[in-house]
Amino acid sequence: MNVVLFGPPGAGKGTQAALLHEHLGLAHFSTGEEFRRHIASESALGQRIRSIVESGELVPDDIVLEVVERALDDPMYARGVVFDGFPRTLEQARSLDHMLSTRGRSIGIVLTIEVPEDELVRRMLQRGRSDDTEQVIRERLRVYEQRTAPVLDYYAQQGKLRRIAGDAPIEDVHRAIVLAIESLTTKEKLSNHS
Ligand code: AMP
Repeated sequence: MNVVLFGPPGAGKGTQAALLHEHLGLAHFSTGEEFRRHIASESALGQRIRSIVESGELVPDDIVLEVVERALDDPMYARGVVFDGFPRTLEQARSLDHMLSTRGRSIGIVLTIEVPEDELVRRMLQRGRSDDTEQVIRERLRVYEQRTAPVLDYYAQQGKLRRIAGDAPIEDVHRAIVLAIESLTTKEKLSNHS
């Protein structure tokens, strides 16, 4: 089972992905975390990524896709992944489908976590990451609306999109996500038996 956790920055994707890892055993793959590791390594690529991330823009698709493709061939991610913060562009979504299908895998469900904008800004200011200044936060929300939100239609057309109310206690959001995933796996089992 491969799951995409979707939603604007600050929606709680990372927190929810960690809970899915803990409770359902799905591997957690965060492109943002991968990039923060590159930045910490202070390599030439890391320095380039740092300036992009700190401006609130998106890392170019070719760099993102290379990181993802490498992860897909890592045995750690072979038995099911929660993608957190990826895909963020239509190109990434299309490439992900292609990379998975050549490996006999696919995305089972896309859960979009919905949170009002004021609450997103409040949460991001609170977590205090170095790319979480108010100006950068506003830019990231703008980039989300412009480049990432259109990916929702792509998954809606495939019938894979489920909406999760994210303005609620962490455990409630977690429960809603688990229910959505379980209802899908039940449906799959039923259709496999028919
Ligand atoms: P996140 O931890 O998901 O909030 O990501 C932090 C930053 O990393 C984002 O603001 C982007 O600059 C970059 N980033 C993470 N994932 C992606 C992606 N899939 N495509 C492009 N840039 C990304």
